[in-house]
This record gives sequence, C-alpha cells and structure tokens, in this order.
Amino acid sequence: MIPNFEQKLIDYPWMKISRYEGANHHPYEAWGCECGRGWLNLIRGMCQDLTELYQSKGKEVNLVPSQIKEKFGTLRLYIDFPFDEEPDDELRSAVRQILSKWEEASVTVCENCGNEGSLRRGSWLQTLCDKCYKGLNKESEEN
Ligand SMILES: [Zn+2]
Repeated sequence: MIPNFEQKLIDYPWMKISRYEGANHHPYEAWGCECGRGWLNLIRGMCQDLTELYQSKGKEVNLVPSQIKEKFGTLRLYIDFPFDEEPDDELRSAVRQILSKWEEASVTVCENCGNEGSLRRGSWLQTLCDKCYKGLNKESEEN
C-alpha cells in the first residue's frame, strides 16, 4: 500500500478505512487501495460521481468499499451496499455504471504517474505511459 494514499480520499468519509472497529472485514480495510498512485484521480472521480448520485436522491452515500485493486493491468472497484440496505434496481445499476466507467478509464491512465498510458504486455500486464514503461525495463536490465 502506498502511504497516505487514503489521505487523499479524506473528503469522502465513507471511504475511510477504519470505519468499523476491530476486525478487517474487507481487503480494503486491511490494505487500502492496492494500486499505484497514478490512479488516485480515477478513484477520486468515482467517489465524486457516487457522491453526486446520492446527492441527486437527497441521500448520504451509504456504500462500503470492499476492495480497490489492480488486476490484469486495470483498475477494479469493488464497492458494496451495506448488508442492512436493499437498494432499488435503479440505484444499483447507477452505481454499477459509475464503477465500470472508472474501471474502463484506467485503460488509458498510467498506474504509476497518472499520465496518459496504455496496457503493456510484459511479464505481467500493466497500464503505463512510455516513460514509466521504459523506466521499468531499464531497472530490470540493470538487475
Ligand atoms: Zn507514467
């Protein structure tokens, strides 16, 4: 986990890690955002969209981040409804659309620095800009 990553999400209280006392119920609570800092603005964009969605319905955001991570080179956002809330289909699908929108956006954003990037197929998949991609290759040559 990158230190202070979640500090950048502080204006979204529902994204706070230690909302529940004691146990780590979800990977998010244990590890926070499991991806590079370059995707911070995507995650903030998702938070903002979700906030506006709930505001448009006159509600406070009532969602639980269960896991935010990189998988196969792109961003995965697992955000759940709380167990005690049964959202209507409209809300459910609006939330799902927002999550997909920002997951899809990660395909063109460098996970490392946030500049324009593309999916690189090396020994593992990563979305990187040219500079970060070259930097990584250089490191592995030197080792
Ligand atoms: Zn980069």
